[in-house]
Amino acid sequence: MAAAVALPDPGRFAYLKAKDVARLAEAYRFSEAAHAGQTRQSGDPYISHPLAVAEILAGWHLDGQTLMAALLHDVTEDTKVTKDEISDTFGRPVAELVDGVSKLDRIEFQSAEDAQAENFRKMLLAMARDVRVILIKLADRLHNMRTLGAVAPAKRRRVARETMEIYAPIANRLGLNTLYHELQELAFSHLYPLRYKVLAKATAAARGNRREMIGRTLAAVKRKLTESGIPATVQGREKHVYSTYRKMIEKHLSFSEVHDIFGCRVVVSDVPSCYLALGALHALYKPIPGKFKDYIAIPKANGYQSIHTDLIGPHGVPLEIQIRTEQMHRLAESGVASHWMYKDETDKLSELQKQTHQWLQSLLEIQHQSGDPHEFLEHVKVDLFPDEVYVFTPKGKILSLPRGATAVDFAYAVHTDIGNRCVAAKVNGELVPLRAELRNGDRVEIITASHAKPNPGWLQYVRTGKARSTIRHFLKTMQYEESAGLGERLLEQALKSLKSSAAEVDDASWERVVRDSGARSKEELLADLGLGKRLPAVVARRLLKHADPAREDAGAGSVTIRGTEGMAVQLATCCRPIPGDAIVGSIKKGQGLVVHDSDCAASLRSRKNEPEQWIDVEWDPRTTRLFQAAIGVTVENQRGVLAKVASEIADAGSNIDSISMGEDRAVFTTMNFVLEVANRQHLARVMRALRRLPDVKKLSRIRE
Ligand code: MN
Repeated sequence: MAAAVALPDPGRFAYLKAKDVARLAEAYRFSEAAHAGQTRQSGDPYISHPLAVAEILAGWHLDGQTLMAALLHDVTEDTKVTKDEISDTFGRPVAELVDGVSKLDRIEFQSAEDAQAENFRKMLLAMARDVRVILIKLADRLHNMRTLGAVAPAKRRRVARETMEIYAPIANRLGLNTLYHELQELAFSHLYPLRYKVLAKATAAARGNRREMIGRTLAAVKRKLTESGIPATVQGREKHVYSTYRKMIEKHLSFSEVHDIFGCRVVVSDVPSCYLALGALHALYKPIPGKFKDYIAIPKANGYQSIHTDLIGPHGVPLEIQIRTEQMHRLAESGVASHWMYKDETDKLSELQKQTHQWLQSLLEIQHQSGDPHEFLEHVKVDLFPDEVYVFTPKGKILSLPRGATAVDFAYAVHTDIGNRCVAAKVNGELVPLRAELRNGDRVEIITASHAKPNPGWLQYVRTGKARSTIRHFLKTMQYEESAGLGERLLEQALKSLKSSAAEVDDASWERVVRDSGARSKEELLADLGLGKRLPAVVARRLLKHADPAREDAGAGSVTIRGTEGMAVQLATCCRPIPGDAIVGSIKKGQGLVVHDSDCAASLRSRKNEPEQWIDVEWDPRTTRLFQAAIGVTVENQRGVLAKVASEIADAGSNIDSISMGEDRAVFTTMNFVLEVANRQHLARVMRALRRLPDVKKLSRIRE
């Protein structure tokens, strides 16, 4: 039988409504039953842990939902209880809080790099979405740190390091100063037990030795403030072991040099009194030049406000003084938690809430502008980092990407080559489309293929500048190369019509023509031809400057088209020509070669008006790719007819690229398909197969 669990003093929850206390007792019984039989490393029943976490949060006066969630925070991870069950029993908000904490528990910090630690902290904050989730997690960590002695040494060091690098800085960022220092002290004591012991002993001894001097100095400060008519509380400040250690390391100071400074805090009622107190104390002891800092006028990044001044105290001992108001003090000690801790004092409620609210806004860069203090809770639930998402690489590195970033952005962020060759992605072990949006905490893996190339379609959904510019650059280079290839063939055709060929053109002629044309290279000149920026006939004539004029007009022959020329050759979408169709080509500036069906209405018009743009083209018989053709199918309106048509198309060896439906008439429907076929014969086969279907009433190829 496990040891009995000491229940907390009910007075700790007295700030809650009776109704909430009853719900809390229910949550306790539920959690106790779920964890029944489980024990902690210390041998205590497991329930002692969630109970202690709830007590810590009660110390910060958090609301009933948060305390219930604290009691239940480990049940979905460690027992068979599901999120839905918690939602059904305790309501959705509690279930969301528990779920939020469990999500944070599942991701693990691995890297020791500072930059990674910063990203990991942001990832946690971004994943939490509700500040209360972070507060539960911090209370959970605090209790685990307080009881870390029972844990095996290797795990103890790992948890202590994680606390030092991740959780203590988060507490600091949220302004939870007291918690921040306790986490640091505990983590330090487990990371460096010997150093901690020596320094803690020395700190206690130093305090004892100087007790009398400190007492006299505090009394002098109090007296001076009373004389000046400034009501104030004056307290000596304890030095933390870890901050002493850090100062010794960072500033190369000895223990006594760090400890030879005495700190004291003056808390007054309002801001003007802060400056009055400052004046009075500067009159009492001489200030050390250059040591005055006004964090009231310019608060620290985490919202901290105070006046700091260093004075030369009695016997020449330096005296560090912090002056602040009561409210600044609360925020300095408890940060975001002060909202809940002090909300019972109704007289100061709205002012404090307004301040906490403003502070959170500046701290978390929250965009909401409402001044209504009752909306505070809504505001702490918003996204803490609305513009960023944090994801893991397979090696555990964290990348920060803009919100909405996709697997393609991730691939380019890892490496340009990975981006250029990516074909698929896995997120948390599952295959997802490349356009899938990434979420915080995702583990992303990119699958590449050596032959793969960037796809122009990616430009529609990538979010990072790097992905966008790299894809654009790649496509431009590719288009340039393809255009140069086409230009070479167009030129060959033009030379042929002059009864010559490229082989007959010598290097000197090339050099002369390139120079005269203003192009930077032969390659650029050929690309210009492919893009339609220059006319092949003109360039051909210049290359054969000394050619016999009688050789002209020998019949040009045609340029052959395979359809695999990439962006240099486009098949017009008005008529969608396929191999077997008679075709003509048009060269337009910047568009390269566009191939039309020779009967296409659009091409007929243009051939009449601008004949110089048109050249003869023919299909290369060896072409193997598939081409798009559009057909219209009118069918009898009945269930399952689309499936029948689609399967007939597939059986005939064709793919459907897209389907659009015409107006739904009562009896007949017309469906338009864009199909992939090899050539005219193939299309004829597909259409024959469709005609055999009894439901098909009308069928035709669409070209307009
Ligand atoms: Mn826990």
